[in-house]
Amino acid sequence: MRNTHGYKLYRDGHVTDLKCCPVENRKFFFFRFKVKPIERAKTEDGQITYNGFIILKASGEVHSAHCPCKGRSDGCYRHIAAVLFDLQVTVSNNKIIAPPANASGRGEVGIVTMPLL
Ligand SMILES: [Zn+2]
Repeated sequence: MRNTHGYKLYRDGHVTDLKCCPVENRKFFFFRFKVKPIERAKTEDGQITYNGFIILKASGEVHSAHCPCKGRSDGCYRHIAAVLFDLQVTVSNNKIIAPPANASGRGEVGIVTMPLL
């Protein structure tokens, strides 16, 4: 089943931030994301975005996902879907989403766009 709501959210730019955070055992990829509320200006807490996360297995499967918005019926799954769309497009656009295998630091690594040839 296609989730067109998620795709629309992605296209509308509701996903405002998406970052890959290194995980020590490298069996998983941990992504933090921020999404704007769908039908209101701010979240229930008065924030501009909801801050959630998605954990992918190294195989690419979704291990788990979390979005803190309270309106479950009002689009949490659409938030997750929008982030997955964003992630998919990011990967297919040739961006680096994982740190180098020999990276030693534990700092956060942002998504870096490869320069076009
Ligand atoms: Zn949500």
